[in-house]
Amino acid sequence: MNSRISSIVQKIPKSGIRDFFEIVQSMGDVISLGIGEPDFVTPWHIREAAIYALEKGKTAYTSNLGLPRLRNTIANYIQQKLQVSYSPKNEILVCVGVSEGIDLALRAILNPGDEVLYHEPCYVSYGPTITLAGGVPKPLSTRMEDHFVLFAADIEKAITPRTKVLMLNFPTNPTGALMPYEELTKIAELCIKHDLLVVTDEIYSELTYDGLAHHSIAALSQMKERTILLHGVSKAFAMTGWRLGFACGPADIIEAMMKIHQYSILCAPIMSQEAAIEALESGAPSLLKMHHEYAQRRNFVAAACQELKLPFSFPRGAFYIFPNIAKTGLSSKDFALQLLQEKKVAVVPGTAFGAAGEGYIRCSYATNMEKLKIAFEKIALFISEKTK
Ligand code: PLP
Repeated sequence: MNSRISSIVQKIPKSGIRDFFEIVQSMGDVISLGIGEPDFVTPWHIREAAIYALEKGKTAYTSNLGLPRLRNTIANYIQQKLQVSYSPKNEILVCVGVSEGIDLALRAILNPGDEVLYHEPCYVSYGPTITLAGGVPKPLSTRMEDHFVLFAADIEKAITPRTKVLMLNFPTNPTGALMPYEELTKIAELCIKHDLLVVTDEIYSELTYDGLAHHSIAALSQMKERTILLHGVSKAFAMTGWRLGFACGPADIIEAMMKIHQYSILCAPIMSQEAAIEALESGAPSLLKMHHEYAQRRNFVAAACQELKLPFSFPRGAFYIFPNIAKTGLSSKDFALQLLQEKKVAVVPGTAFGAAGEGYIRCSYATNMEKLKIAFEKIALFISEKTK
């Protein structure tokens, strides 16, 4: 053990995605289906709002909670999209991406040893962020056969006297899963029965397909008071680099999160806050165009996986497909490494998203159609070589 480094930090792994993409970057000439961010540039009217803010000399700190106008805009947006009403005065905190929101939420509510349930495969940060906040990560495996839905019955079996929090992420990175409304209702009842808090990461909530709607658990009866709803502009508005997210929740928890945020971050960048106002108030047409593209690409990658006879759960949201590659006889990691070395196509091994991801790879379709076509031709060739 290296005693210079805190034992808790030594305990957490580096992100499996990061390791992998360091190799990708050193190679050049690679088609990447690896990165979980839109290939679109932030729409011009949003960039212009930030430029205009700078021109007007808006370069200072804002309130720790975020610009009052942005908090108003968020309250209206969430009310309209997710049917939950939050007070801009004390129930909304603007933060540096959902990433900061997850960290703040967990640090604000966990005591050492508290257990946090979450579904796996899941976004890479959940387990480590729980550990860093002193909690105990308790992943629940979800299965392709069940469309990676999390069942209330599985949650109930895992609840112990130390369980304090349930984390949810629907639509899900990396599986593209949506949560059926009936099951969400059962989960809400369970949370009330066992007095659990919920941290729900709804960063992909605008990106659902086939006319299916995303439902927020925060909107269900008696759930607002026990739920921290996290959202942001990174994905739907192609604004990953602006680092702008927000947390909505009960005033006492938002106040606790704000205390950590004010000492560690102070406030989100003012120009990003100005851009977010424009995105949330006037970004709907731009979002629609990008959504249309994603929907077409999703159909393409799903058809490609079908043709390759790779089992998968049809993605209903986000911009990922998570096919099973077990028939090649390769582990997820070997599949991804060999595909990269032999065909120069980058995908993420499913194990980067937890042990439940073994046997799978994540392909992002936030990549243009031309590249997707070439990538899947190469994947087809690779699989035919490996399964000869
Ligand atoms: N949550 C999920 C499920 C994600 O997939 C990502 C990014 O890939 C994030 C949060 C990070 O979001 P942000 O850019 O708002 O920090």
